[in-house]
Order: sequence, then structure tokens, then C-alpha cells
Amino acid sequence: MTPLIGITCSTTEVEAMVRYRHGVNGSYIDQVARAGGTPVLLPNVDPSHVERLLDVLDGLLAAGGDDIQPLLFGAEPDPHLGEIDVPRDRFELPLLRAALAREIPILGICRGIQALNVARGGDLRQDLVHDPTSTVQHRMKARGGPTVHHTVRLRPGSRLHALLGHEQVAVNSYHHQAVGRLGDGLTVCATAADGVIEAVEGTDPARFLLGVQWHPEVMALGDPLSTPIFDAFLTAARGFAARRR
Ligand code: MN
Repeated sequence: MTPLIGITCSTTEVEAMVRYRHGVNGSYIDQVARAGGTPVLLPNVDPSHVERLLDVLDGLLAAGGDDIQPLLFGAEPDPHLGEIDVPRDRFELPLLRAALAREIPILGICRGIQALNVARGGDLRQDLVHDPTSTVQHRMKARGGPTVHHTVRLRPGSRLHALLGHEQVAVNSYHHQAVGRLGDGLTVCATAADGVIEAVEGTDPARFLLGVQWHPEVMALGDPLSTPIFDAFLTAARGFAARRR
């Protein structure tokens, strides 16, 4: 059996009659399927459904999305805070906490690394664009298909460094927020040239817990720096599924 991978969704307002859609960009689905997982989308339902959902999931992919309500990490909203997704905040943080408790393999991407950090008690930098200490453009504007935008330095000895096999790689960048104070059980494994945290991983080497601030899923299927991330995630999910059965 292929491992079942839950992918978190964003809530978007469509029009007054339709009210809301819960959805995710297709590239997450494509990458999970390519790596050998069966993707399943997780709508932003009441958190009372979290444990039942986790009963059947072998891995959790926390996808990109809007900003997290700062009160959830003990901060007041910065004037440059972007849009927030109330149903997603209400569902995804309990989902992540419960998945962490069950040691289900977790991959966080963009908002996903931020949600993972908040779920672990950390906080966020709310806006890099207006932060004078952030001297690299993290909200890229590029036309003509997927491309990389800035470099990140990978910490030697980290899981991510072992996966990608380089001390420095170039990544895309579609964020205006970043991990601030690190949550419990997480360690920084990649930083941009301006010191912005670009990836974190769990301190326990026995379990797969990785968050990246860039978007490996939007790069072409088979991209040499994206494929190892999804492959390692699915390997961990297969291991989790086998241990559970
Ligand atoms: Mn960046």
C-alpha cells in the first residue's frame, strides 16, 4: 500500500453565494504522487476531527498559505501583516501538534515551516519587506516559469545538508515572513545571506521533521534539489506506515 499523505489547504473566499473553497496548488499533489505517496487534501474543518484524520495518515505536508494570526504566537499584528486564514489557523495548528505527538513524518513548506514553528511554541518575523535587517529580496517577482532567486547556506551535519549534498544552494523565494524565535525540538538547518531562517528540522534524528521556507514543489518534477526532499519524506512515511501495521 502506498502511504497516505495529508496535505493542508487554504480557505479562499470565492463569492457571496459559494462562500468558501478549501484548496491547494496542484504542484504539492503532483510531487507527493511522483514520490510514491497517495495525496489526500485536508479541509479546514473543526479541530475535533484532527485525531480521526491522523488515524489514517502516514505523513503530513503543511503547505504554503496566508499569514498566521500573530496572537497565536503571542504577538500583536504588525502593520504590514498580510491576510490571515481563520479556519486554517484554527485547524492546522492543532493538527500539527497532534501529528508531532504521534511522531508522524511532517514536511512543512513556506507557511508550513512557520506553522510548524508556531505549533512548537516559536514565533514569526511578521514582515521582512519592511525590516531593514533583511537585505535579501524574499518576495521574488519573476516571469517565465520556475526559477531560483537567492542562495541559502546549509548547516553541515544537518539532515537537509545530507539530502541535498551541497553547503550552498539557490532556491526560489515567495515569502514575506520567516521563522523568528525557534520552537522546541527544532534546529536551524539553512539560512539566507541576510540571516533569515530558510529551513528547520527536528533535533531527533529518528523521525522526519523538516520545514523549508522556499517552494521545492513548484520546481519541475525531477528537479535535483526538490526531488530528494519529497523522496526522503515519502521514505519516512512508508516507514511510519510499516511500523503502525
Ligand atoms: Mn527566502
